[in-house]
Amino acid sequence: NNIMATLEDVQAKCRARDPNQAEFLQAVDEVLTSLRPLFDRYPKYLSVLEAILEPERAIQFRIPWQDDQGNMQVNRGFRVQFNQAIGPYKGGLRFHPTVNLSIIKFLGFEQIFKNALTTLPMGGGKGGSDFDPKGKTDSEVLRFCQSFMTELFKHIGPDTDVPAGDIGVGGREIGFMFGQYKRITNFHSGVLTGKGWGWGGSLIRPEATGYGLVYALDFAMKDRKESIAGKKITISGSGNVAQFAAEKCNELGGIVLTFSDSAGTIYEPKGFDAAKLKQLIAIKDRRGRCKEYLEVSKTAQYFEGKRPWAIKCDIALPSATQNEIELDDAKNLVRGGCKYVFEGANMPSNNDAIDIFKKNKVIYFPAKAANAGGVAVSGLEMAQNSGRVHWTREEVDEKLKGIMKNIYTTCRDTAADLGHAGDFQLGANAAGFKKVADAMIAQGQ
Ligand code: GLU
Repeated sequence: NNIMATLEDVQAKCRARDPNQAEFLQAVDEVLTSLRPLFDRYPKYLSVLEAILEPERAIQFRIPWQDDQGNMQVNRGFRVQFNQAIGPYKGGLRFHPTVNLSIIKFLGFEQIFKNALTTLPMGGGKGGSDFDPKGKTDSEVLRFCQSFMTELFKHIGPDTDVPAGDIGVGGREIGFMFGQYKRITNFHSGVLTGKGWGWGGSLIRPEATGYGLVYALDFAMKDRKESIAGKKITISGSGNVAQFAAEKCNELGGIVLTFSDSAGTIYEPKGFDAAKLKQLIAIKDRRGRCKEYLEVSKTAQYFEGKRPWAIKCDIALPSATQNEIELDDAKNLVRGGCKYVFEGANMPSNNDAIDIFKKNKVIYFPAKAANAGGVAVSGLEMAQNSGRVHWTREEVDEKLKGIMKNIYTTCRDTAADLGHAGDFQLGANAAGFKKVADAMIAQGQ
């Protein structure tokens, strides 16, 4: 009861401080509610709770840039340096019109525990801007990225804070920002990850989130004497995570039925085999929309404005964005026979949806564990940069597999140890939280 009261107190304080940060409060609620069994076992962890919920630093800045017509545009930039108990701040940058402090804080908060789960020495941070890269020319994106970095460079460094990509930030944007960082600082370093091959990037980094997601799924299924082969898989999103998750699913014999974007879902009833996947990726590479895939396939169907979750599947890999699985979506998935939900995006399921999964014995593997492969290979990129070495594809892939296997077994065993076998939400939160809290306690917070 004492524990319950402390949790309620801390959450109330959080809500009072930031009443309008819905996404951040949702992420906090998710973690704290699920961590009850950890606090019951180890009440000492309550002592760092309030500190863990408060970013060490939150930076907001103006980004002026000139569009192709010569007009001055202004966007807002953020970098939240949430927690560096176990290593330098690490986490991506998101460029999307919905970006605000609440979104960056929820992402940064999740990142702390995700990074801890990788076992690599990385703290948690996140940043981004409400800039919308959609419809912008290369030269506009270049000017925006240069202006963004002209402020951000003051706050980052290879041993301080190492940003990377997220939604709207891929190889092109990382390249533009890295170029500007070097020009300003005259310092070629591992200050960003997701760099290109040949100038500091790591092999397998583009693939890492999607591959890692499917490696974790594969370990979980093998643990239950099941396999991906022949299983129907719905994937949402159609970016980097979705594409490489699909490629790995195909390799393991799975049948990938769907992709989506903000306009709708594209459904291929017999699955996106390697050739069909290539056609979809070609559309995305030229920054086209999922709907355009109808022009190259006679069998595909398009559901305008719809998410993929009403389509029957064995496995769902939400890989688009936060809150893309709400209560009714979760019910649809359960009704359609879905047995595994592995999250490629960050916080794709809201808390009502998670409850539905758990009540219905769906194997729910939360984002901070399931999509940690991306930041894990970012950590390997940092190691290669500071060691002045270069690892082969096979070496990086082997390490990624090892990290995902360790994440799966750690989450499984932590949950079982706390008396809740099968609860991967608890396993992921507890294992990540414990590591960070131990470091904070050892260092006097
Ligand atoms: N944005 C990715 C994530 O959500 C990757 C971050 C990184 O590589 O630093 O974990």
